Amino acid sequence: MLIAGVECGGTTFKVSIAGYDKVSKKLDRLETTIIDTTTPPETINKVVEWLQQKQEEHKKGDPIVSIGIASFGPVDLDKSSPTYGYITTTPKPNWHYADVVGGIKKAFPEVPIAFDTDVNAPAVAELASGHHGNVKSLAYITAGTGIGVGLSLDLRPVHGMMHPEGGHIPVPLAPQDVKDGFTQGTCPYHGCCLEGLANGIAIAKRKNISFGDIKNLEDADPVWDTVAHYYAVLCTNLFLIGSVEVIVLGGGIFQRKILYEKVRNATVKLLNGYVSKVSADTIKGQIKDSEFGADAGIMGAFYIAINNINKD
Ligand SMILES: [Zn+2]
Repeated sequence: MLIAGVECGGTTFKVSIAGYDKVSKKLDRLETTIIDTTTPPETINKVVEWLQQKQEEHKKGDPIVSIGIASFGPVDLDKSSPTYGYITTTPKPNWHYADVVGGIKKAFPEVPIAFDTDVNAPAVAELASGHHGNVKSLAYITAGTGIGVGLSLDLRPVHGMMHPEGGHIPVPLAPQDVKDGFTQGTCPYHGCCLEGLANGIAIAKRKNISFGDIKNLEDADPVWDTVAHYYAVLCTNLFLIGSVEVIVLGGGIFQRKILYEKVRNATVKLLNGYVSKVSADTIKGQIKDSEFGADAGIMGAFYIAINNINKD
């Protein structure tokens, strides 16, 4: 059967179709396109046109049977809400209360559409792919200019009031930041929340360099210990509150591979033996790289679409 995935990003939309075999559970990705994010009607029209064209080319008698959409947020995931399927209070021009699901539903009225955040959906995909073994609860973190935290507990993405916004948790200042007087975070809402202290902008600000020059910092730069402290605080909270079995760290900041070891060590230190299942011996299998890398969003979209099929 043919399924579609749509990853809505602030700069581009990634749209892809795949064949899915319900029996073998094999996903065979067929084609992908990238569409610039302009206005909502123009962008969504291009998504729809591409999907319709691909459906014609690939269907062999079968139409698209399920569509998954993984979107930047905040989004409305409450099916009883009049703005379900919308991107809501984003500062992104034109996208404030943009109806994403509705625009695609209009073109594919018979097709079930699964909708989630661009971090919840990858959390679902990382779990469903089996890459991390037989685990049922996982957090997916992406860190760049923003910090997104997706949570899937007992194989279900966490929605609740809306969806987790773990990038904005309050965090204790790193000792080095206290010493240096770096106590003004970059978050316009909270100043020193996790995002305000550990996103790319905060790293650049500490070093007095441009965002683009972060990649030129040396691995030995002590700033990485400071950065690791903040992600370790997040991981510690995720273990304690979500009782997650695996935490996947991805996004631009985690291109810096030395961070994984630093975050693992700092997390073990913060937990200090309190959670017996998290120790220096186990942590490598609990704080990990993404299986899908840059494809995490689109794979997330596919896997929530698959969940919709398997629900039937
Ligand atoms: Zn914040």
